[in-house]
Amino acid sequence: MPSLLALEPFAETMTAWRRDLHTHPELGFEEHRTAALVARELRAAGIAVEVGVAGTGVIGTIRGTAGGGAGNRAIGLRADMDALAMQEVTGAPWASLSPGRMHACGHDGHTAMLLGAAQWLAANRGRFAGTVHLIFQPAEESRGGAQAMLAEGLFERFPVDAVYALHNLPGLPLGTVAVPKGAVLASSDTWEVTFRGCGTHGAKPHLGTDAILAAAAFIVALQTVVARELDPMQAGVISVGHLAAGHPEAPNVIPAEVLVRGTARALSAPVRDLLEARIGAIGRGTAAIHGVAAEPVYTRRLPPTVNHPAQAALMHRAAATTLGAAMARDDHPPITAGEDFACMLEARPGAYAWLGTGNPAHPEGWHHNPHFDFNDAALPAGAALFCGIVEAELGA
Ligand SMILES: [Zn+2]
Ligand SMILES: [Zn+2]
Repeated sequence: MPSLLALEPFAETMTAWRRDLHTHPELGFEEHRTAALVARELRAAGIAVEVGVAGTGVIGTIRGTAGGGAGNRAIGLRADMDALAMQEVTGAPWASLSPGRMHACGHDGHTAMLLGAAQWLAANRGRFAGTVHLIFQPAEESRGGAQAMLAEGLFERFPVDAVYALHNLPGLPLGTVAVPKGAVLASSDTWEVTFRGCGTHGAKPHLGTDAILAAAAFIVALQTVVARELDPMQAGVISVGHLAAGHPEAPNVIPAEVLVRGTARALSAPVRDLLEARIGAIGRGTAAIHGVAAEPVYTRRLPPTVNHPAQAALMHRAAATTLGAAMARDDHPPITAGEDFACMLEARPGAYAWLGTGNPAHPEGWHHNPHFDFNDAALPAGAALFCGIVEAELGA
C-alpha cells in the first residue's frame, strides 16, 4: 500500500496546481483552461488521455503492469472540476482573477489531488494489475456534468467494475477520511404547484374562488408530510422557496393564479417517492377543498448518493491502510445537500468519502461561502486515498 509519505513528494506540485486552478475558476461545461491543464499534466506523466467527453471532461487511463499486464479488472476515480458563480473575498494571493467566478466548493483541490494520484500511479504501474480510469468531470454544480458523461457512454467507452470519489469537508479534522456505509447525500428535486381560481374583488370574495387561500392551506399541510407520514427514523425535507401571486400595487384584488415552488430532499428512493406523491396529492386535495384547480409538477434532478456496502468497506480499508486506522472512519451522518456522483453510483457499484480539511489555523469557511479556500494541507491525504483504493482493488 502507498503510505501518506509516498505522496508527500507531490505536495508542492499539487499545491501549485490547486492554486493555479483557484486563480482561474470556470463554470460547468466551460472548464476549457482547466481541462487543458489536466490533459497537459496527464500526458506529461505518460498517461493516455481522452478529451472532450461531455464537452470539457477529460479521461486519463493508466494500465497496471503487474502480472505481465494481464489484469482485466478496471476502476474509475472521479474528480469534479467546476467553480461557482460567486464573487470571492478571500484576499488570498491566489484569489480568483475572474469576476463573479470562484472555487468555493474545493473542486480545485479535488482536481489537484487526482492529478497527484495520477503521477504516483503512472510511476508505480508495477504495483497493480488492471486499468484505472481517471475521470475529470465537468459541471457538478447543478449543471448535470455526471449525467452528460453517462449519456455519452462514459462506462461503455471506459468500462469499470467500481467507481470512487471524495469531497473535502471543512467540518471534519484535517486528513481524516469518513466513508458512510449507506446514504451519504440526499436526492435533490424541485417541484411547483400552480393554483388557479376565479379572481375577484378583494371586497367581494364570494364572487370568485380564492387561489391564495388554497395555496396558504397547501403550504401549511405540506409540513405534515415529514412530521406525520414519514417514519421518524427516516429523513426528508420539503421546503417552499418561492411564492408568487397578485401585484404589490393591487392589494384589493384576489388574483386568479398562485405559483408555489420549492425543493424536496430524501436519503432513499422510497422516501423520495413518498414526497413526490404527497406533494401532488396535497396540492390537488387542498385545491379541491377551496374550489380551485391545482397543477403540480415534480422534477427529479438528482437521486440520493448511496454508497454500495462492499465498495464502502474497501474504501474505508484503503483509508486505514494508507492514512492510519486513527484517520479512517466508517461512518458519517448523511447530509441533505445533493451530488451528481449519485448518478454514477446508480450506474456502477462504488463509494464516496468525505476528506477532512478542518484546521483551526486555516479558517477556510464552509462550502459555497465567499471566504472559502481549499486547505492545501489535505492534498497528500486525498491523493494517497485514491492510490490506496487502486492497490486495494487491483493490487498485485
Ligand atoms: Zn458545491
Ligand atoms: Zn462540491
